Amino acid sequence: MLATADKALLDAVLHARGPVQRRAVAKAITLLESTRADHRARADALLNALLPASGRSFRLGISGVPGAGKSTFIEALGLHLLQAKHRVAVLAVDPSSSVSGGSILGDKTRMERLSVQADAFIRPSPTGGTLGGVAAHTREAMLVLEAAGHDVVIVETVGVGQSETAVAGMTDCFALLQLPNAGDDLQAIKRGVMELADVVAINKTDLDPAAATRAQAQITSSLRLMQHGGRTRGGVPWATRVLTISAVHGTGLVEFWQAVSAFRDQQVASGQLAARRHEQDEAWMWERIEALLHERFRTHAPVAAALPQFTADVRAGRVAASVAARRLIELMA
Ligand code: GDP
Repeated sequence: MLATADKALLDAVLHARGPVQRRAVAKAITLLESTRADHRARADALLNALLPASGRSFRLGISGVPGAGKSTFIEALGLHLLQAKHRVAVLAVDPSSSVSGGSILGDKTRMERLSVQADAFIRPSPTGGTLGGVAAHTREAMLVLEAAGHDVVIVETVGVGQSETAVAGMTDCFALLQLPNAGDDLQAIKRGVMELADVVAINKTDLDPAAATRAQAQITSSLRLMQHGGRTRGGVPWATRVLTISAVHGTGLVEFWQAVSAFRDQQVASGQLAARRHEQDEAWMWERIEALLHERFRTHAPVAAALPQFTADVRAGRVAASVAARRLIELMA
């Protein structure tokens, strides 16, 4: 049940426009990120109430190593989309924030020109907790922004660790930014990440157009080798498109948007988009179940009391790891 104040908040997220809506969206996301138990109960009620209004956006994931030009590109793309009357939101999943409390994506205000636009909303990565926790908060923020009428939600992440998989698992289309020199050293391109990419954009082509064209050819042919027999997404054939762009000069933006839109249109037409989102929602539920069970296990008093002895016994070889695990779990019963 929504409290009266939260009903007003929901109403402002759904129906207000301008600064009133922005404040409400920010407030709703802050509530969803709160770790206080009473906040969580309110957040859950809010999330469920706005769910029917969510989902009507193009969810686009963008990854790339630090320095690849993600923020420059997303700002340019965002401004381009605003001109076409889209309402753009940018979220981030920064795995470093869960490890060190620091941030690879940067604490500095990024995308300053985009962030001041009335129809754009930029939110930095949630911090603290596990990558799963950070990703969960980003997913929930995405639902709020969709309910507020943002029809393009870009989720940015850095090209390190598991975060690309998390972002590919919450978006409709996954794009990878590459630097022109990456083609010279294909080892540098992580195979798993490449396989996730629906579109690869080679950025900074203005610096060395010939190198960019070479990289495009090399990446295209190595993708063909990797994806021999043809790549499919949800059973629908889609060969990863490889483009050259310059985020600073805005070249290739239109082609990029056309490529990701063509992919998404194909997924919609085949029914795969809906199927994929249902799968993502189910996977998300299980991911959260596991995380919540884990948290409950660790904070359960009898488990916490017995854990040091079991840990010592397992390390010393006195008790088998699987036996210790079962006994500890039984303490929760
Ligand atoms: P991020 O770490 O991936 O977000 O990368 P940034 O967007 O912060 O860009 C890193 C640096 O590369 C900045 O100095 C940008 O100005 C520069 N940069 C980004 N895109 C381009 C481009 O297309 N051409 C050139 N020459 N520089 C670029």
